[in-house]
Amino acid sequence: MTMGLIVFLFMIVLAVLYTLARMQAGKLPVRKQRVVLKQSTSGNIIYRGLNGEMSGPVGTEVRRLLRESCLQSPLTATIPNSIIENIHTNSLQGKRADEIAAGLMALLPDMDYEQLESIARTIIGKASTALDRVRSEKIGIHWYVWETCQDVRVRKSHRKMQGVLVAWNDPPSPERLVGEKIEYGNYHAGESIECRCCSLPLADLSEVRWPHRVYQRGSIQRMTRVQFKQISGMSE
Ligand SMILES: [Zn+2]
Repeated sequence: MTMGLIVFLFMIVLAVLYTLARMQAGKLPVRKQRVVLKQSTSGNIIYRGLNGEMSGPVGTEVRRLLRESCLQSPLTATIPNSIIENIHTNSLQGKRADEIAAGLMALLPDMDYEQLESIARTIIGKASTALDRVRSEKIGIHWYVWETCQDVRVRKSHRKMQGVLVAWNDPPSPERLVGEKIEYGNYHAGESIECRCCSLPLADLSEVRWPHRVYQRGSIQRMTRVQFKQISGMSE
């Protein structure tokens, strides 16, 4: 049997197992669905794949960026590294912020549950952004699209960032961009307190419409494809 055929058969087995797990999960309440998916082959493969990635150089860089980002937010600046690690590891294992917060109550007895949940949610967001950044930069993608949830809960400053192109080495201060007095410094999508925004890697210039809004050194400008090519160094 050739290598190609073995890989092909393996992919078919994976697809069947994944479909079966999804079908089985669809009949169960949400909480049980998560358990089934976690225990299913596909869930395990995803978890093991992520775990493998996090135990190598990607994980080292993600943890460094996460610590750095936590130091920059008033909510997380005084949280010990061991707690940051605890929240990060638990989220990688599929736990939600409320479950993680419940587990932290014994470790941080001075804080109430709401505070811990907010901290957990913020750190999970920061870790997710850090992973996006490390994965992107590793393959030479240095720009992303700031994507909000586009609902009523999105804060005014982040609404301003919807769809804007941002470079990983030049984070904006969304509050300053809308003239708010309280500033939280410069940060990326998903890094602010309880921020639900995410970063979509810009691999290709055809992924967005031109002219497009671009953040660069303190302001947002509308740029043509040619202008963006010049400042970003991206080809197409
Ligand atoms: Zn946000």
